[in-house]
Amino acid sequence: MMLRSICLFIAIFVSGFSGLAQIVTTTQAPGRQMPEQKVVLLRNARVIDGTGAAPREHVSLLLRDGKIEQIGGAEMVAPAGAQVRDLIGKTVLPGLISAHSHLGLIVDDAESSASGYTRENVTAQLKQYERYGVTAILSLGLNRDLVFVLRDEQQAGRLGGASIFTAGRGIGVPEGAPPLPAATDQIFRPASVKEARSDVDEMAAQRVDIIKIWVDKLHGNVPEMAPGIYKAVIDEAHKRHVRVAAHVYSLDDAKQLVADGVDVLAHSVRDQLVDDAFVRSMKQHNVWYVPTFTVDESAYIYAENPAFMKTPFFQQAAGPKLMAKFGVPGYAEKIKQDPQTAQHQKDFEIAQQNLKKLFDAGVRVGFGTDSGALPGRIPGFAEHHELVLMVRAGLSPLQAITAATGENAKLLHASDRGTIAVGERADLLVLDADPLVDIGNTQRIFAVYHDGHNIIDLPSRAK
Ligand SMILES: [Zn+2]
Repeated sequence: MMLRSICLFIAIFVSGFSGLAQIVTTTQAPGRQMPEQKVVLLRNARVIDGTGAAPREHVSLLLRDGKIEQIGGAEMVAPAGAQVRDLIGKTVLPGLISAHSHLGLIVDDAESSASGYTRENVTAQLKQYERYGVTAILSLGLNRDLVFVLRDEQQAGRLGGASIFTAGRGIGVPEGAPPLPAATDQIFRPASVKEARSDVDEMAAQRVDIIKIWVDKLHGNVPEMAPGIYKAVIDEAHKRHVRVAAHVYSLDDAKQLVADGVDVLAHSVRDQLVDDAFVRSMKQHNVWYVPTFTVDESAYIYAENPAFMKTPFFQQAAGPKLMAKFGVPGYAEKIKQDPQTAQHQKDFEIAQQNLKKLFDAGVRVGFGTDSGALPGRIPGFAEHHELVLMVRAGLSPLQAITAATGENAKLLHASDRGTIAVGERADLLVLDADPLVDIGNTQRIFAVYHDGHNIIDLPSRAK
């Protein structure tokens, strides 16, 4: 206990007084993941509170027992024994939340595998999200039942990493979507309405946060989920007070799903521009829309060797094996010649226009990336990059940040997080520069607080 306190003090001292310093990680006693709770005063920061309100200057936050206890001005007095961290010039926002990510589908950061859903691998991915300031994720299907064990351990304070929300296994199609390698205990593929209802019941009993379905014929290559199946899934889920999120691609499927009561569209509509009837229907049914631009952009962008690939922020998230894959001679040429690349580029273009139209019309927009589903959708990095892409699509930086924080907490029905308010969990992303000036500044991470603990910082920060 004494040793831990001293190390934590050194960590704060080092990070507080030297901009280039490596951040010392606190030592932890074996068998215990979390350091002792501390009272922390974060003083004199610019605060973006996640509600969409304009930023406030010279704000101080008092954190105690994992929660925000008090919010005040620069003059706030630290209680006896509190750690004080002066954040003048820094910007604090709520920890990011991804409402569409996956766990345990990638091994060694570089390969899809049906055997990747292990405690070790999933825990490492949760920690990567957390280091990057993504303090909660919704793992939207393809989870082994291990996910419920890990969620319980987190809630008991015995396991770190981004807070898990989960759709459990989810409901796909026999011989159809999702086309990912998955073990049989990672997904249901019901052949009948009766089976589908029983799969929903099983997941509801496991207290999933949402039910996931895949409705996509993958450009005509596979059988699609029959409307009779998804109608039954939605009906059964709603009877059990669980909502339903759909993987979707086409406008026609999206329209039918919305008419049939789906709660979340977990991807952009990408086959065509949305029309006014769809916009009206989305609003009337109060359906969430999660754009996940990363899905299409990540399929080809690395072949273009963009500047961000040279940053430690990117490279540390990608890991050496994925970086090596990008560096293989002929990689760029292979991607450029892949007939799917033009399709992804077209889909991404349509997705951007659709987001702008839906957002401006007042449709509820959430935030997700599909990170972790395929190797190029890189946990932690993808979320920061998605913010950049949302701004390119026409949202303001504040609007994009609000989608990823306060709005996403509403999407998840997680009323204890997502905004900076008294009583909320102390999940905070502290930045060296203002993201409202340049959304890319969310990547200049100074510190991450999760449940009031300082998690970070990145071993060497991109400066
Ligand atoms: Zn997904």
